[in-house]
Amino acid sequence: MSVTLSLPQVPELHEPPEEADAEGCIQCQMGSKLVLFITGNCHWRCDYCPLSETRRDIDHMFANERRCESFDEVIEEARAMRATGAGITGGDPLMARERTLEGIRRLKAEFGTQFHLHMYTSIPFRPEGARPSSPRPGSTRYDFTSSTSRPKSTERLSRPAPNRGF
Ligand code: SF4
Repeated sequence: MSVTLSLPQVPELHEPPEEADAEGCIQCQMGSKLVLFITGNCHWRCDYCPLSETRRDIDHMFANERRCESFDEVIEEARAMRATGAGITGGDPLMARERTLEGIRRLKAEFGTQFHLHMYTSIPFRPEGARPSSPRPGSTRYDFTSSTSRPKSTERLSRPAPNRGF
């Protein structure tokens, strides 16, 4: 008996990825990244906030469009879509820091260290602050991207933090 494995969702991209595209961006283009909505809480109140009334300021977790009560359900959703990674978002994931870290640990344990994670946050912090919470320092890399238009913060947050546990 033979088993054929295929990459998730969209094998032919509308436009081929560019050389400068980050791995996470390519996975998003391929539709292979789970959207892990950790919490609807956020300490900003941006006028342009795209969160709906059913998500904003509500401490619920979603994997794609599925409401999840546990990371078992998140993992089930990731399996269902054959995810190769996840984008962690909200709200702001750092408003539920421990839950975010648990999610990272669970996803890496379930799918391996190559499972690509990136996280969106609007909370500036020093990259070295991530280190003590890493499940296995050096085994994972976090890319920080700010969704706000604060140049200094954005520059600092969008810098990859290799060897910082993310
Ligand atoms: S930082 Fe993002 S989630 Fe928070 S209020 Fe602004 S747009 Fe909404």
